[in-house]
Amino acid sequence: MVREGCSSVLVTDFDGTLTQHDFYRLVLDELVPAGTPDYWSWYLAHKVTHFEALRLTFGSAPAGEAKLVDVARRLELQPGLDREVEALRNHGWDVVVASAGCGWYIERLLKEANVHVDVHANPGEIEDGRLMMRLPVDSPYFSQETGINKPQVVKDAIARFDRVAFAGDGLPDLAPALLVPAELRFARGLLAETLTERGEPFRRFGQWAEVARALCAL
Ligand SMILES: [Mg+2]
Repeated sequence: MVREGCSSVLVTDFDGTLTQHDFYRLVLDELVPAGTPDYWSWYLAHKVTHFEALRLTFGSAPAGEAKLVDVARRLELQPGLDREVEALRNHGWDVVVASAGCGWYIERLLKEANVHVDVHANPGEIEDGRLMMRLPVDSPYFSQETGINKPQVVKDAIARFDRVAFAGDGLPDLAPALLVPAELRFARGLLAETLTERGEPFRRFGQWAEVARALCAL
């Protein structure tokens, strides 16, 4: 959906980009029982997809909804996000979230913060106290590997908007980040390190609000 008055769009990752922390990391560190297989190493060894590694990890924590909500609320979503998004729209920039994580916590946190943006993420529900994530088979951006094909989200935006910016922090953000011009490519964390190693220019940020303010200043 293209919002009226917005000829530009910022496609943004969620975990570690719009938030300071990763939901996956907190679940793994705090809620997954000892003795659970290291699904991330399975992914790194190409035994399972990125989606499967996350799905299996989330599904192995029978923590109950209250604890999972508590973890989500400790991700440290960008404070004042509703105002930042409104300022962006006033400057012609819409915002779209593209995440390989789960819409269950993303949509909950955005709703609590009174933020209304399009979200492309993997669906999920709490069943028997566990977060059960599902592949977004009905999404136009469906990918077997990550659930949501972030590069496709960016390519689609490039086809529809005059300017497309991207912000991210992880390795799944590398391909979509390289699709946008360097002055609209925002990175922190491992994405920033990887872009630096590859000699690819980008704009470094610490907090997502810095991305929003940089775009408003263009
Ligand atoms: Mg991330």
